[in-house]
Amino acid sequence: MYRSASSNAPIRRFEIDFLSDTLTKPSAGMRKAMAEAEVGDDVYGEDPTVRVLEERVALMMGKEAGLFVPSGTQSNLIALMAHCGRGEEFITGTSYHSYLLESGGAAAVGSIMPCPLPVDENGALLPGDVRAAIKPDNTWFVKTRLLALENTVNGQVQNPKRIAQLCTVARENGLSLHLDGARIWNASVQSETPLADLAAPFDSVSSCLSKGLGAPVGSVLCGSHEFIYQAGRVRKMLGGGMRQAGILAAACLYALDHNLPKLAQDHANAAALADGLSGIDRLTLHRGDTNMLFLGADPKDRESLVAHLENQGIRVGPPAAKIRMVTHMDISPTDIKTTIRAIREFYNA
Ligand SMILES: *Cc1c(COP(=O)(O)O)cnc(C)c1O
Repeated sequence: MYRSASSNAPIRRFEIDFLSDTLTKPSAGMRKAMAEAEVGDDVYGEDPTVRVLEERVALMMGKEAGLFVPSGTQSNLIALMAHCGRGEEFITGTSYHSYLLESGGAAAVGSIMPCPLPVDENGALLPGDVRAAIKPDNTWFVKTRLLALENTVNGQVQNPKRIAQLCTVARENGLSLHLDGARIWNASVQSETPLADLAAPFDSVSSCLSKGLGAPVGSVLCGSHEFIYQAGRVRKMLGGGMRQAGILAAACLYALDHNLPKLAQDHANAAALADGLSGIDRLTLHRGDTNMLFLGADPKDRESLVAHLENQGIRVGPPAAKIRMVTHMDISPTDIKTTIRAIREFYNA
């Protein structure tokens, strides 16, 4: 399903592709903005378009400064390495991206020890678990340095009260706080909460412009001036310093202007999809709040359902216990209707 870097399997295009919101392609307007971007060498701090983007996202997140980086994965790794020293520990969720889906970078590259804790049905950690996981300060134990949370988690907006409780436990114990807000944009739109409010309890927040916002590349890590200075050094160390990166930053600025307001449509499309699929006996729906829907299909149906859809030019996530479907800019309300018809046809056959 997921091609390795060395794969030379042919690329198959799907008319309707629910695999991920990272599949969105730059529009003509975005490409024009990229072509016309004013640029400089950002490793010398001289790319004006990158500066505008960093300042703009930092302002939106209510932080002092921002750092433009190539990916959400690098952004999280930079944050972990800026917060934690060698052999220190961060607490996070077993299903969270920075633990599960970043090739073990924290341990392999950062020499940082993960302490992953189970999450509840909404994807949230439990304050009691976090409190119990923080190690006493003595020579036997690793130094617990950071709590790293995520919002949204699998399309689920995190409960602000729970976030506040978790952050209180962390603060009381002297931990720093990082938020992996790859899709914080969706959380903000859905909960009608300013980004700065969602980011306020955290020292650092990472956000992706390359998912629902539709930029081809780019994440912005935000925090205090001092934190971002440290982060800039780690980015250089990891090879994330980019030269005329304004071409990419221009796409991100275009995304903030034109695509951020469109996220509500993605959420409405996911809700319409869930509505249209309700009442099918052999199908359980797990709806996130935002742009994700998970299909709980019978084990015997999974492979054939995915194949049936692919034959009709519709791709969904791999045939697991929960088959993920992600709505995004390049999926229209008409596509949603087509997909509902195709899934119902599978179950009626
Ligand atoms: C996608 C994602 C990332 C990583 O972003 P990349 O740009 O793909 O490296 C990190 N955290 C979460 C929650 C994500 O969904």
